[in-house]
Amino acid sequence: MQKKFGSILIISGPSGAGKSSLINAAKEKIGDYYFSISTTTRPPREGEREGVDYHFVDKETFEADIRAGEFLEYAQVHGNYYGTSLKPVREALEAGKLVIFDIDVQGHAIARERMGDLVTSVFVTTPTLEELERRLRSRATDGEEIIQKRIQNALVEIEYITAYDFLIVNDEFEKAVDSFIAVAKAARLKKGRKQALQFINRWRGQED
Ligand code: GDP
Ligand code: ADP
Ligand code: 5GP
Repeated sequence: MQKKFGSILIISGPSGAGKSSLINAAKEKIGDYYFSISTTTRPPREGEREGVDYHFVDKETFEADIRAGEFLEYAQVHGNYYGTSLKPVREALEAGKLVIFDIDVQGHAIARERMGDLVTSVFVTTPTLEELERRLRSRATDGEEIIQKRIQNALVEIEYITAYDFLIVNDEFEKAVDSFIAVAKAARLKKGRKQALQFINRWRGQED
């Protein structure tokens, strides 16, 4: 039996760098993929929908899910919990899909440790810190205190660029979209160890 196995693309970067905008703009051009919907204890922003942008839960529910081993990874970011549920990711991988994670730098480190041979990663940022601040304000989704926290966090997050395969400086949006599509196409070609061994056996005409 020929088994399919997908791969993982992790996108990280400071809040306001343009991760969601890039994923949205590239959607039509990267083929069959599954976007991993994270669970968070952060309250929904205006326009965000349950089960589309995030699964919004309270702290108690999140902590019960941690104890139940539901998460592939989780982390505290800007004072809230965020986590990736293992089950839908496993199903999408088994269906041969490219699975896209928009997760923070801590989550990237954990996912790499657990599933590193499937992972391609890209760090997205603005050309400057000042531009990040400008975008966070122009997005107008967060209050001043939250914006300050995200800027402080960005100063730490930026150090993790070295841990990523690719870097996209999101200056001119259309160019950044093209770069993101190229990275997604490359991520799809990333082979895991299991996939490689299956391919070798099939290529030699042996059963898996
Ligand atoms: P944004 O950065 O402005 O898009 O704000 P979000 O509230 O959407 O994301 C907050 C942070 O949590 C970001 O750094 C995300 O990359 C991170 N994040 C989102 N989902 C996950 C997840 O499932 N796991 C981990 N580890 N981090 C996540
Ligand atoms: P993230 O998901 O990384 O937090 P968003 O996708 O929400 O970031 O983008 C933050 C803000 O910056 C949004 O208002 C978005 O429209 C804007 N933005 C994204 N890319 C660019 C760009 N290249 N130039 C100017 N503004 C941008
Ligand atoms: P926001 O609150 O702006 O939606 O997200 C803030 C940060 O949390 C972003 O950097 C986002 O990538 C990250 N994030 C979102 N979901 C997860 C998750 O499931 N796990 C981790 N580790 N980080 C996440």
